[in-house]
Parts: sequence; C-alpha cells; structure tokens
Amino acid sequence: MTGSIYNFSAGPAVLPKEVLQQAAAEMLDWHGSGMSVMEMSHRGAEYMSIIAAAQSDLRELLAVPANYKILFMQGGAIAENAIVPMNLAGLKPQPATADYINTGSWSTKSLKEAAKYLNVNVAASSEADKFATIPARAGWKLSKDAAYVHICTNETIDGIEYQFVPEVGADTNGAPLVADMSSQILSRVIDVSQYGVIYGGAQKNIGPAGLTIVIVREDLLGHALPCCPSAFNWKTVADNDSMFNTPPTYAIYIAGLVFQWLKRQGGVAAMEQRNIAKAALLYDYLDSSDFYVNRINKDNRSRMNVPFFLHDETLNSAFLAEARERGLLQLKGHKSVGGMRASIYNAMPVEGVQALVKFMQEFAAKNS
Ligand SMILES: *Cc1c(COP(=O)(O)O)cnc(C)c1O
Repeated sequence: MTGSIYNFSAGPAVLPKEVLQQAAAEMLDWHGSGMSVMEMSHRGAEYMSIIAAAQSDLRELLAVPANYKILFMQGGAIAENAIVPMNLAGLKPQPATADYINTGSWSTKSLKEAAKYLNVNVAASSEADKFATIPARAGWKLSKDAAYVHICTNETIDGIEYQFVPEVGADTNGAPLVADMSSQILSRVIDVSQYGVIYGGAQKNIGPAGLTIVIVREDLLGHALPCCPSAFNWKTVADNDSMFNTPPTYAIYIAGLVFQWLKRQGGVAAMEQRNIAKAALLYDYLDSSDFYVNRINKDNRSRMNVPFFLHDETLNSAFLAEARERGLLQLKGHKSVGGMRASIYNAMPVEGVQALVKFMQEFAAKNS
C-alpha cells in the first residue's frame, strides 16, 4: 500500500511508527550486543537492563506509588479473569464473594470466569440498557464483605468508558477496587492509589500481544487460593521480579520502547489531551451527521473505541472497501455489535482521525 496508512484495529493495534522503526533498526544487533533481543537470556545483563528500564518508565508514566508492584505476566486479560479471583479470594473466609459491575462484553466474561473461584455478586449492570451506559454509582448494590470490587474501565467492544473512579471503600468495608484497563491504560491520567489491582493485556495501548501488565498493591499479595498455579500467583511473580517463568521478553522490550516514546510525547497527561481532541473530532462529526450514528450515552462514551453505524447498513461493505482503498484499515465493528468501530489509541495520530472523518463525509455525500 502507498500513501498514509491508518490502522483503527481494536487490538492487536497500531504501534507508534517511530517504535517500529527503532525495533527494526535494532532487530539483528541490539546496542552492539551482537544479538537480537529475542535471542538474549532473560537473566543476562543486557536483557536485565531492558526489563528494568521498562518497569521504571511505566512506574514513572503512571506515577505508581512505591507500595505497588508492577508485574509482567502472560495470558492476557482473559487469563487474569481467573488469576484475579484466585489471588484475592483468600482475603476472606471461604467461600468469598466479589462484586462485579457489568458494563459490557468484557465485564460479562470476567464475572463468568470469576464464578468458578468465588461467589459473584453482580452489584450493577447496564445489560438491560444494551450496555450504552455505566450504571450510576449510587445504584450499586455492593456486598458488605466483598474480597474486591471489579470494573472494566473501558469496554473495548461496546465503546463505553468510566469517566469517574468509583469510590467503593465505605460500602464494602474497604474492599479493593480491581480494574481491567486493557484498552484504557496510559490513555489518561489515573490515580493508581485508588485501585488495589490494575491489569490489562498489552496489545491495545502498550505493545505486542503476549504481555499482560499487572499493577498490584503489596498488601494484596500472598492471599492466593491453594489451587492457584505458581506462575499465576502474583506473590511468586513479584518475589521473582517477573522472572519466575521466562517472561515474554520481546514483547516487554517493545513495550519499553513505547514507554520511552510516551515520555517523549510529554507523558500521559499530554496523551490525554490529544485523546480528548481526537475523540471529540469523531464524536462531533457523528453527532452532526444523519448518515452515521453512535448509540452510546454521551457521558459514557469511550475515548479509545468508537463504534458507529451507517443508517443504511446495506452500504457497510462498500464503506469498508472504500475506506481500505484510502488506507483506513480495520474499521469493521466487532461481530457481536456489528457496524463499524474506530479504535483511536495513543499511537493513532490526530491526522488519522481527520482522514477518517474526511472519508466519512465524502462517503456520506456520495451515498445520500
Ligand atoms: C482485549 C481485551 C481483553 C482480552 O484480552 P486478551 O489479551 O485476549 O486476554 C479483556 N478485556 C478488555 C477490556 C480488552 O480490551
């Protein structure tokens, strides 16, 4: 393909071009080591410097407090759906209960998996509302003695996002808030200390698939159920500096390059401003159009994943084919939702969103 290419995939997703160029340049010989990063012992001095820098850069970007561990794991957020209850159920006498807020496809998956390990209380759900809203905090029916409260801060498939951090402390006797941030992490400023655990797969906003990031408060380590595999026990992983098993070394290296790129961009606060502007550009156009529609409650719209529909769905395949010709890739909506979805993560430049809106305007004009 020639010309500018903009990749709107929901994940694995676009990476900064600069990062890919650097990785290409370093592919055969990393910093004069004579080796590709893929070929290095994870315990050698070269690789130890790579993983240490990745970890400290992430700590700096998110201002992770000293009493939190950053873990590099595998299995993605879907594995964490089981790893979370296996690690936290032991905070309470068995059988423990955990509260889940169901806001879409990913929360539904999380709570179904968790039910294998503890009692799940669905404290609030927007399912009846076709997952077009985040249920207001006031209506949540939290348990008195939950091991934790689980949310998904950005529903990648449905396109809804929390624009507030739910305070759960008082109602739940201080149960920690656990967040699946797969598609939100590093896109906006967060206060890590409001969470007990933050986790996410890397392939949305960080790097290649195969790496899972877990940020966990230290007092939540050491409460795993006996059934928890050692490689999934956060305490074991933390005690071994994410090297209990061989970590996904190359994925961590790329994530580290992305963290350095983020720092060069001005960090998370600067990214957040750009993400607000990008999302506004697209939503403002959608709202002004009678050719396209986004059905998510305005206050809960995702800045990262923007699902939209053509009113005339018989034009869907023409829309996708013409978008592709323009270098606008992977706009097809998730199969469970249909329509289109534009994912506009950190690595999507504003020019990509401008090109998409311009194409959408022209397509609408031609087909109205
Ligand atoms: C992509 C995604 C997942 C699944 O991640 P895997 O790496 O496939 O396990 C879970 N939750 C959210 C919010 C996601 O965006």
